[in-house]
Amino acid sequence: ELLSRRYSTQIHRRPTRTVMVGDIPIGSAHPVSVQSMINEDTLDIEASTAAIRRLHEIGCEIVRLTVPSLSHAKAVGEIKQKLERNYKPVPLVADVHHNGMKIALEVAKHVDKVRINPGLFVFETPDPNRTEFSEEEMQLIKEKIVSKFEPIVNTLKAQNKALRIGVNHGSLAERMLFAYGDTPLGMVESAMEFVRICDSLDFHNIVISMKASRPPVMLAAYRMMADRMDKEGFNYPLHLGVTEAGDGDYGRIKSTVGIGTLLSEGIGDTIRVSLTEAPEKEIPVAYSILQTVGLRKTMVEYISCPSCGRTLFNLEEVVAKVRDATSHLTGLDIAVMGCIVNGPGEMADADYGYVGKGKGVIALYRGRDEIRKVPEEDGVSALVDLIKQDGKWLEPE
Ligand code: SF4
Repeated sequence: ELLSRRYSTQIHRRPTRTVMVGDIPIGSAHPVSVQSMINEDTLDIEASTAAIRRLHEIGCEIVRLTVPSLSHAKAVGEIKQKLERNYKPVPLVADVHHNGMKIALEVAKHVDKVRINPGLFVFETPDPNRTEFSEEEMQLIKEKIVSKFEPIVNTLKAQNKALRIGVNHGSLAERMLFAYGDTPLGMVESAMEFVRICDSLDFHNIVISMKASRPPVMLAAYRMMADRMDKEGFNYPLHLGVTEAGDGDYGRIKSTVGIGTLLSEGIGDTIRVSLTEAPEKEIPVAYSILQTVGLRKTMVEYISCPSCGRTLFNLEEVVAKVRDATSHLTGLDIAVMGCIVNGPGEMADADYGYVGKGKGVIALYRGRDEIRKVPEEDGVSALVDLIKQDGKWLEPE
């Protein structure tokens, strides 16, 4: 069975329970959801509301915002109301930082999920000469964590809301660093400590993340966490991300390698691409990753050859024209090929093909069948006509 899964063209997702974040279900029975985070000051209610709406309108299904103080927590209440009044309810997540349990209790009233970072529950007294904690000290620290964490768990449970246990490689607690070092295992142990506390309080609306800025570290941490949970009978969904991925091509590649690799292995139920760019830029990258691995299809899939000496027209230009004319359609695969030398099979069974046929002539394909030849200058409009003829056309909005 392992081999047949390894050789399958379908992703077999790790089975998880479903955790609701507003009206978005997170878990293996549902599409992998896309989320992002606004970078406005949460106290600026106008700007934050507008940013959340902008993101939601382009497909960000869950929006996170930072809540560093009690007044920020109260501002979230106003943002939520404003969204509901002027737009619609948007699933919101509050990022609550260290020593913020009062803040978490307040903001939990206004959001659908609260994110905490276990590494920021710090109860150790900083001492550069220290390298370990005694068992008694560890016991005391654990008791303090439980007493601090329990009220937020209870309030989320009472309101049937969700919690993200969001471990970051760069901010592990000192006791974890002493025991496990700065390693994926340290990240897993850090998350498991909080998973067990939630379990002992019979709270299970949990999503877990194990982010790191280097894909090999996050890959190891997520794989280890998934295995550990499966072994110990916890079926919580995972939120994937490469944190601090940077910007531009490299930031996108880093995110794709980290997130896409795990998704291909069946790990991951919600994703955030973190770029040092406007958050709106993250959403198309997230949907492209999901479409590439075959988990969600939200746009036209274009298949085009790299061109070579046999190319019979300006491929880059034609691909751009075809895209301009058809990118508003969804669910279609369209191939643009410089020539037919390698046969229609090279078009990866696209729904439609635009293929160089001879000097100044292209052929249009429906699936593997050649439908007609047309002069190159009429190629794009003839393709559009063919799609219309098949009843698959939608007028652009
Ligand atoms: Fe070259 Fe034809 Fe292959 Fe395109 S499809 S790369 S033009 S051989």
